[in-house]
Amino acid sequence: MKNFSLAEPQTIEQVKAFLSERREKSFLLAGGTDILGEIKDEIIDPEIMVDLKSIPNLSYIRKEKDGVRIGALTSLAELAENPLIENDFPGLHEAAKSVATPQLRNMGTVGGNLCQKPRCWYYRDPQVKCRKKGGSRCFALGGRNKYHAIFGGGPCYIVHPSDLAPALISLDAKISIAAPKGEKTIPLADFYVLPRVNVRQENVLGSDEFVREITVPPVKRGEKSTYYKLKERGAWDFALLSAAVKGVVSGGIFSDIRIVLGGVAPVPWRLEKAENMIKGKAATEELLRQAAQETLKEARALKDNGYKKDLLEVVLSRATLMLV
Ligand SMILES: Cc1cc2nc3c(=O)[nH]c(=O)nc-3n(C[C@H](O)[C@H](O)[C@H](O)COP(=O)(O)OP(=O)(O)OC[C@H]3O[C@@H](n4cnc5c(N)ncnc54)[C@H](O)[C@@H]3O)c2cc1C
Ligand code: SF4
Repeated sequence: MKNFSLAEPQTIEQVKAFLSERREKSFLLAGGTDILGEIKDEIIDPEIMVDLKSIPNLSYIRKEKDGVRIGALTSLAELAENPLIENDFPGLHEAAKSVATPQLRNMGTVGGNLCQKPRCWYYRDPQVKCRKKGGSRCFALGGRNKYHAIFGGGPCYIVHPSDLAPALISLDAKISIAAPKGEKTIPLADFYVLPRVNVRQENVLGSDEFVREITVPPVKRGEKSTYYKLKERGAWDFALLSAAVKGVVSGGIFSDIRIVLGGVAPVPWRLEKAENMIKGKAATEELLRQAAQETLKEARALKDNGYKKDLLEVVLSRATLMLV
C-alpha cells in the first residue's frame, strides 16, 4: 500500500477544494469499510484521502415538514436503531439491519453505503484489468458469473451491492449533492447509471461532488413498506436478490405500489411493469407469480446465475404480501 496524505476539511467548501486539487488522485473517506479494502488490494492508489468525518454536523436523522432528513455521515447502526425510521419506514429499517455485521454497521455510513463500489471478484482482483477498470474485456461475461446481473447488464455485469438503495428508492427518496456551483437535489432513482451509460462509474457524482443528505418523503395514509433479502449464508452477506416494496393495500386490493429489486442489475431495478399489473387487483400469490413471469421476460441470465430467475418469484411474492 502506497502512502497517501489525509485531508481533514472542517467545512463543505474545504471538501470541494481538496477534491478539485488533484481530481484523479483524491478520494472521499467516510467509514472506510469499503474504500480501505480497495486501497489495500491496490485497486486504487490515492494521493489524498478527504476525510468527511472531520466535518461537524453531517450525522443526523431528523423529521421535518418535507420528510425525514438523513445526513450522509449517519452510521448504518444509527439508521437501523432509530425509532422514527423503524416506525415510519419499516422497509428501510429492515434494509439497514440486514447490512453486513454490527461492527461494519457501526463504522459504515449511509453515504458510503450508497456510493460503495461493486463486489465483482474480477473488479476486486488487482491482477485483472476489466472494462470497469479501463480494460477491454468483461471477464465475468465468459467467466464465473454466479452473482452477476440478469437485468441491465452490458458491457459490465455487476450487481448494485447496497441494501439501502432499493429501500430508499422504493420510498421515493431524494439525494442532495454538494457541488462546486452549489447544492443539487435529485431523485435517488436518477443517481445511479447503467454501465452502458458509463462503464467506469456507478453514479452521476462528479469528481468534485459528494453526497450530503438523503430526504425520505413523509408516509402517506395507509402506506406500508417492506424489505425482503435472500442471502447465500445465514450470517452476514450481500443480497443474492432482494425486494423493497412500498404501497397501500386496502380491502385486500393493491394500490399505489412500488417495487425495487436489489442483486439483479447494475443499478437498483424498478419493476414498473409488475407494479402496473398488480395495481387495483386482489393481493394473491397467483397474481404475484404472473407479475414475476412478466418481469422475467426481460431477464438475460448468464452461464451461472439462472437460479436468480427462480428466486425472483419467491422474493417478489414474499416482499409484496408482507404489505397485506
Ligand atoms: C464484509 C462486508 C460485508 C458487507 N455486507 C454488506 C451488505 O450485506 N449490504 C450492504 O448494503 N453493504 C454491505 N457491505 C458494504 C458496506 O455496507 C459498505 O462498505 C459501507 O456501507 C460503506 O460505508 P463507509 O462509510 O465505510 O464508506 P467508505 O468505505 O468510506 O466509502 C465507500 C465509497 O463511497 C465513497 N463515499 C463515501 N461517502 C461518500 C459521500 N458522502 N459522498 C460521495 N461518496 C462517498 C467513498 O469515496 C468510497 O468510494 C459490506 C462490506 C463488507 C466489508
Ligand atoms: S462485471 Fe464489470 S466489474 Fe466485473 S469483470 Fe465485468 S466489467 Fe469488470
